Amino acid sequence: MKRVTVKIGTKVLTGCQNKIDLRVLENIADQISSLMDKGIEVIVVSSGAIGAGLGLLKLGGKKKSLSELQAVASVGQNHLMNMYNDCFSKRGYVAGQILLTQEDFDNRRRFLNIRYTLNTLLKHKAVPIINENDSISTEEIKCGDNDRLSYLVSDLAASDMLIILTDVEGLCDRDNKLVKHVRKINAEVMSLCRRRKGCAESTGGMITKIEAVKNATRSGITCVIAGGRKNNVILDIIEDKAAGTRFDAAAKKEISARKRWIGYTTRPKGKVIVDSGAAAAISGGKKSLLPSGILGVSGKFTDGDVIDVVAENKILLAKGLTNYTSLAIDKIKGLRTDSIEKVLGYKDYDEVIHRDNLVVIED
Ligand code: GLU
Repeated sequence: MKRVTVKIGTKVLTGCQNKIDLRVLENIADQISSLMDKGIEVIVVSSGAIGAGLGLLKLGGKKKSLSELQAVASVGQNHLMNMYNDCFSKRGYVAGQILLTQEDFDNRRRFLNIRYTLNTLLKHKAVPIINENDSISTEEIKCGDNDRLSYLVSDLAASDMLIILTDVEGLCDRDNKLVKHVRKINAEVMSLCRRRKGCAESTGGMITKIEAVKNATRSGITCVIAGGRKNNVILDIIEDKAAGTRFDAAAKKEISARKRWIGYTTRPKGKVIVDSGAAAAISGGKKSLLPSGILGVSGKFTDGDVIDVVAENKILLAKGLTNYTSLAIDKIKGLRTDSIEKVLGYKDYDEVIHRDNLVVIED
């Protein structure tokens, strides 16, 4: 075990009290410091900014506008980082803050920059603390929730393990007993994720956690979901002592990092609807998408963007990097490749999406 990403949920840090529980934060920082003493690199994805900010601005309970929430996050994030720094400095470490939105993952250059910064912080034995950039983010540019953010970060940083700390012991079965080990996330496991009501300022639930774990295990990362307020929980997980629910990583990295970026990291800018022949060719793998199989296009995108490929019945089949803009695809849809040049006045590629840039979505 060399590198671990630890995600800490709002409910762990605040207990839904709109105030960071110093005792809990100290305990977590202490455990992380012990791992770092042993040479294990730790990246933290921390929620709690909004919860803390609500208390500081005395805005708890009321319905908030977007700008109020953004302001709350700004105050809370600062407070949260001060507390992290205080706790880590007692053990001789410093924390570095990185605030991200989905746009940072969509843009390949910024995506790589996140990786460089993380690696440099870790090289200097600083603890990267990551959160969504809530003070500027709106629905359209949000990563979604911090569970998804923790998957994106653990994959980008090639972590060996992702630990998601929450306010429950782990995934429970129908009799409410802890499931200790999951080999593969299947329909049965998904059906155990009942939606539970959390506190208003935390966005996740077991569903978003399992989604994050599903993606991370596919990337070859072992995952654990566990109760974050328990003493020594992180150290127990690392030492393989029973704690939470452990999810096995896929045996090998099933798809390349570049294809994972296309299929699971970026947000698609639009979509093409394809006929049954193209759908079968794509789902069977190994086939590119040609204009002849395209029935329609929606959204406004340019060449090089990632788009969804959907069947007529709206099922998502694949994601891929398009060679043509939405405007061009609208003109060449349904046509044979030898008509592309006649219609557009140019032909850069035969394929709208080349199979090397296409990722079939299995579920
Ligand atoms: N970014 C939010 C915060 O710091 C939390 C979002 C989440 O928990 O998913 O308060």
